[in-house]
Amino acid sequence: MASFSRAIIHIDGDAFFASCEQSRNPALAGKPVITGKERGIASSMSYEAKAKGVTRAMRLFEIKQLCPDAVILPSDYETYSILSKRFFDIVRRYTADVEEYSIDECFADLTGLDTVRGCSYETIVQDIQRVLFDELGFTFSIGVGPNKLIAKIGSKWKKPFGITVISKDIIDHHLASIPVGKIWGIGPQTTSLLATRGIFTALEFKQKSKDWITYHLSKPFYELWLEMHGLSILPLNIKEKERYDSIQKVKTFTPPSSDKKFIYAQLSKNIESACIKVRKYNLATKEVYFFLRTQEFHDEWQKIVLPRYTSFPHEIIKACEVPFNRIFDCRAQYRSTGITMTKLLQNPYAQRDMFGEYVQQEKLARLYEGVDAMRKKYGKYTILLGSSLMAKKFSRHLGARGDAPARAHTLFKGETQRKRLNIPMFMGKVK
Ligand SMILES: [Mg+2]
Repeated sequence: MASFSRAIIHIDGDAFFASCEQSRNPALAGKPVITGKERGIASSMSYEAKAKGVTRAMRLFEIKQLCPDAVILPSDYETYSILSKRFFDIVRRYTADVEEYSIDECFADLTGLDTVRGCSYETIVQDIQRVLFDELGFTFSIGVGPNKLIAKIGSKWKKPFGITVISKDIIDHHLASIPVGKIWGIGPQTTSLLATRGIFTALEFKQKSKDWITYHLSKPFYELWLEMHGLSILPLNIKEKERYDSIQKVKTFTPPSSDKKFIYAQLSKNIESACIKVRKYNLATKEVYFFLRTQEFHDEWQKIVLPRYTSFPHEIIKACEVPFNRIFDCRAQYRSTGITMTKLLQNPYAQRDMFGEYVQQEKLARLYEGVDAMRKKYGKYTILLGSSLMAKKFSRHLGARGDAPARAHTLFKGETQRKRLNIPMFMGKVK
């Protein structure tokens, strides 16, 4: 029976984005699914795609050669964020001490729960894993250890759908087979430094003396060394996060249109909607991608790097004008436009630049605060930029469906296009 002074677990979603897509669309189950279409590279691959040799950051044309039946989808971060929140909420049913480490990973402290529940930590973890699968419809791998470092090693040990318990007495067995550079927190520079000292495995690192470690390396590495010895040093940061890696808005319109002003207004409206969300979470964007999609599902993507961080739609719309004119083809029938805002920065207007930019930015921020307040009161599209007006005029006739990320056109009970509930869709088994 494994004994623990503390029981920390690390839970990692298996192929998370691709799994989210498979979960909400049963037709994709068992198929090689890849997300990241908007960037032209694979950002997440299902295990079926991995089995065919698709790797992260592989280019789409390479994927098509390697795996002609691959289903390549645009990232839908809104859905992934919702499912991510649901994932954390499930883990919080077991303990309040949950650290949302990334969109698809968390740590949790289960210490003492074995006594409370009258069963082993392993049994509790099996239960968590099963509930996650039942309610979200895809798998997670879990590591259990005396601290964060060892728990993280455990969750990677057996994937997908693995559970690995590493008690203090068997840490060395695991460390012996892990290259030191694979340890969380040890980067390439430290790895090569360690190599010059004959340290290649995590176990060799652990076997160095305390004096050697503190003499050659800084404090964070000493803390890792202590955790390799089974102590719990790294605290859990249990503050709940509102986390967005990127924000996306897509809209499909029927019938398709070749009206340039109308298409531009649709894009403009998507930008306004995305900016509302960006401001809601006190973020700003520096990099924006937009696309126009033809009726034949041909996508034209444009990337725009903005001169500064912004959450103001008029600045982004202005920056899109030239690239829009460049890619717009008056002979084409378009069916949707969309925008993805990335490189998001928290608290963007907290710093002032040399030329008083802060003052102007703050004025705009206050202006948009007023706009957002009015929208909250009277509805999202009460106030629109002139460039988006034409989209509003037509919007009553427009269906929201098609090839946008599914969340963009799936309404749940109690939802309208304007009011979205924070409920994820899932096709997993529900008990
Ligand atoms: Mg993962």
